[in-house]
Amino acid sequence: MTRVTKDNWVIGNWKSNPSSLTQAKNLASEIKAVDFDTNHGQVMVMPTNLHLTSIIDAMKDTAILVGCQDVSFTSDSVGAYTGDCSAEQMQAIGAKWTLVGHSERRTYHQESDKQLIAKIENAFKNNMGVVLCIGETLTEYEKGQTLNVLHKQLAILKEINKLKNHAKKLIIAYEPVWAIGTGKVPQVTEVEKVHQNIDDYLLTVHDSLIQTPILYGGSVNADNVEAFAQSNCIDGVLVGGASLVADKFASLAKTFFATKK
Ligand code: PEP
Repeated sequence: MTRVTKDNWVIGNWKSNPSSLTQAKNLASEIKAVDFDTNHGQVMVMPTNLHLTSIIDAMKDTAILVGCQDVSFTSDSVGAYTGDCSAEQMQAIGAKWTLVGHSERRTYHQESDKQLIAKIENAFKNNMGVVLCIGETLTEYEKGQTLNVLHKQLAILKEINKLKNHAKKLIIAYEPVWAIGTGKVPQVTEVEKVHQNIDDYLLTVHDSLIQTPILYGGSVNADNVEAFAQSNCIDGVLVGGASLVADKFASLAKTFFATKK
């Protein structure tokens, strides 16, 4: 089947970085000064919650979107949920998108499918977009279980209320856990096969997901990004470490978009 053309994305996940608000603002102003060719794709940064308001403010009047790294599982917009920020609160301060199910959240916070479903529904209810992160561990990869693991992680989409109404607000980020922050990357041909399989799986969930962009994430940098961009099965990249240095992030994003032109 010929793959439809999908939107292109370069997303920087800042995780719990940098260590001060001043550094975060400096990073934002350096990124803001870059002439990204956003005619060919969308750039988004995802700072820590603590820095979110300032970075949203810094990026206003630019084409750079700002999202958050998580939203609460609770559908209550306020309440006794220590440490959580609700989707309604995130949306109210101007966060347009959220990550859901990043492997670090799955690992360190033991997020269950039930919680992930609630997070996605809360984000959609508040008109936020969702970047759903999926990926297999090294052991699963070595045992050849990648596709089974991904199907299980994607199956939660079948539980999302009125998913088709929010199809334009969904991105899938395929991030092999063993590639995140390790400097190891899979072969582009391996990623392509996985993305084709995700495409097929999404169509079993709902026809409306035909346009859902599928990003690759895991040790992407300015040197290896071109190879990923050359594949028409890879619609974007989710970048951790290399998004924390403005000129590396700029060069990576520009290369990605220039290759996609
Ligand atoms: C990530 O955490 O989403 C990620 C891709 O990190 P890195 O680019 O550092 O591997």
